[in-house]
Amino acid sequence: MEKKKCEQILASKKISPTAMRILTLDFLLEQSAAVSLSDIENYFFHSDRITLYRTLKTFEKKGLIHSIQENNTTKYSLCQDACTENFHQDNHLHFYCTQCMETVCLEQVDLSEIQVPSNFSLQQLRFFC
Ligand SMILES: [Zn+2]
Ligand SMILES: [Zn+2]
Repeated sequence: MEKKKCEQILASKKISPTAMRILTLDFLLEQSAAVSLSDIENYFFHSDRITLYRTLKTFEKKGLIHSIQENNTTKYSLCQDACTENFHQDNHLHFYCTQCMETVCLEQVDLSEIQVPSNFSLQQLRFFC
């Protein structure tokens, strides 16, 4: 992935393009499944962990990535274009493979239409098949 494309994506989410942010986005763009914090740390083992952690927090806050909780692990995946600062619209299912332990966004499955009784508010949905 070229640097220019990463810069354009960062600009579209109003994130200033530091070297670490470009590298992190480049890595995320290459993934076919969600990555855990330790996957990212292992890849950037030579980088400062605090900077890396802050980069992910910024990405999440700005609507570039969303986090997924899976078996006590936090995984990160890139958002769709619709997500903006402090407003994520990732109302989709996450498919978890018990063989390869990978998590993949199923963005075509829209969960935003799911209704709960009027005196409840929906915070998290989990499906077990
Ligand atoms: Zn999002
Ligand atoms: Zn997702």
